This record gives sequence, structure tokens and C-alpha cells, in this order.
Amino acid sequence: MERIITYAQNIRLADVVDIMIVAFIIYKLMMLIRETRAEQLIRGIIALLIFTVITKRLNLYTIQWIINNILFYGVVSLLIVFQPELRRGLEYIGRSNFLSKPIVEIKGEQISKLTSEVSTAISSLARQKIGALIVLERNTGLNEIIESGTKLDADVSSELLINIFIPNTPLHDGAVIIRGDKIRAAACFLPLTENITLSKELGTRHRAALGISERSDALAIIVSEETGAVSIAESGKITRYVDDETLKVILQGVFATEDIRIFSLWRSKDDKN
Ligand code: ATP
Ligand code: MG
Repeated sequence: MERIITYAQNIRLADVVDIMIVAFIIYKLMMLIRETRAEQLIRGIIALLIFTVITKRLNLYTIQWIINNILFYGVVSLLIVFQPELRRGLEYIGRSNFLSKPIVEIKGEQISKLTSEVSTAISSLARQKIGALIVLERNTGLNEIIESGTKLDADVSSELLINIFIPNTPLHDGAVIIRGDKIRAAACFLPLTENITLSKELGTRHRAALGISERSDALAIIVSEETGAVSIAESGKITRYVDDETLKVILQGVFATEDIRIFSLWRSKDDKN
């Protein structure tokens, strides 16, 4: 009891801050790897560590030697095998608000117009069961994706969006990328998700939408050609059967954040692309 009291008396404010920061980082890391391949791997490592302690206690030298070797080479192979996850982690840190800079400026009155153009296009495509994939860029730059398609740089309009996805036209295959108030490109190729737990009903269009949402903070809207259902992929999660009203609210949120970012201290004229 006395020892506990002595410890308690020696705790400085810096220690509390220290512990809180470490706890926060661990929490964030856990959130990041939750429901990814890395989650099972971390469990495996923890099991191995517990096993090491037990074998040490019981003086099981051979097993200990094997585990130590596995742990040593394991760390090296981890870096190689989990390169995509590590990249995602670093990109996530880079996206944190204090490091991000605004990409596009959208004025207040434009928000409702953009929302209405995109949602009108989506509901029309859904009604006609025309397959579509629209990606709204946010903080993560999607230039590599834009390069993979056909550049457009056109004002966002429902007519153009509908037209792009009409079957058997040159631009209908692939994704449209919207940055701010412009359609930057069409027929873009997106990285597919590696999530193997996904429902078999979801084909490559949905997997492509999930893929980009895992690798960036972009929002992807999918219209299914088979069912006409509208889905939204964000942060590696897919929400299916999104209705018109919900879609409008979500779109408004996306365009409005860009409006708020105008007030960011980081803003300068050169940031506009
Ligand atoms: P749907 O419900 O509309 O059938 P789905 O999820 O079942 O969608 P598929 O039927 O495989 O998907 O859809 C194929 C279409 O998805 C392609 O014609 C193409 O337009 C689009 N697509 C597939 N892969 C990609 C990709 N990597 N990037 C962008 N678009 C893609
Ligand atoms: Mg399909």
C-alpha cells in the first residue's frame, strides 16, 4: 500500500500527458487495423508473445529459440507483406486536419446546386438501372486515378453525369472523379478492395468503390446496373440501399466541408488547382 502511495505522489503532470498520448495512439492504431488483415496478425503476434513468456518460465529452450526466430524474421516480413496497410496508416496521419490544406473552394450558394445536380443524376441513373460509379475527392489527392481515365474538367451537371454512364458509350466504363465543382475525369480505373468477407452479390464496381474508399478519404457513390440500388462507400465501409434524401444530406456534407475549408489558415491562392 505504501509503495502505491509513493508511486502516486511521484506522478508528474508530464507523466499523465505522456500516458494519455500513448493511450490515444494505441486507440487510434486499434481503430485503424480493426476489421483488416492486420487485426488477425496482431492477434497472432500477441499469442506468440504470451507463448514466449510461458516457454521462458518453463525453460523450454528449443521452442523458445524457434519463437524468437519467428518473431525476428516476422518483423521483416511484416513490413513487406503489410506495405499497403502501412501506407494507408501514413496517409491517414497525413490527412489529419492540421496537416491538410484545402484543395478546392466552393462558395455557399454552390453547395445546394452541386448537391442537386449529383443527386438528380444518381436517382435518374438508378431509375433506369444504368450502372454508375462517382467518386468525390476530398483531402487525399486522386491525381493518379484521374490520370488513368479521360480528363474532362467540366462543370458538374446532372445531364453530363447521366450521359457519361449511358451503356456502350466510350466513357461509361469506370469511375467519374469529381473534385470540388468540376468533373475532372471519367472512365477511371480504381483499385479493387482486397476485402474477402464481402458479399458475393457485390461485383467489381462495388469492390472498386470500396477500394478507393480504403485508400483515401474520398466518398464513392455506386448505382448498381443489376438492381438500380444506390450504395455509398466511405472509409472502407459500404452502405447499401441509400435513399434519395439520405444521399442529399451526405452530398451536402461533402460539398459543405470544402466550403468550411476556405477559412483554413493554410489557404493560399496557389492551392487552387
Ligand atoms: P452491378 O451491380 O452494377 O452489376 P457489380 O458490383 O456487380 O455492379 P460488375 O457487374 O462487375 O460490378 O460491374 C462491372 C463494371 O464496373 C465495369 O463495366 C466497370 O464499369 C466497373 N468497374 C469494374 N472494375 C472497375 C475498376 N477497377 N475501376 C472502375 N470501375 C470498375
Ligand atoms: Mg454485376
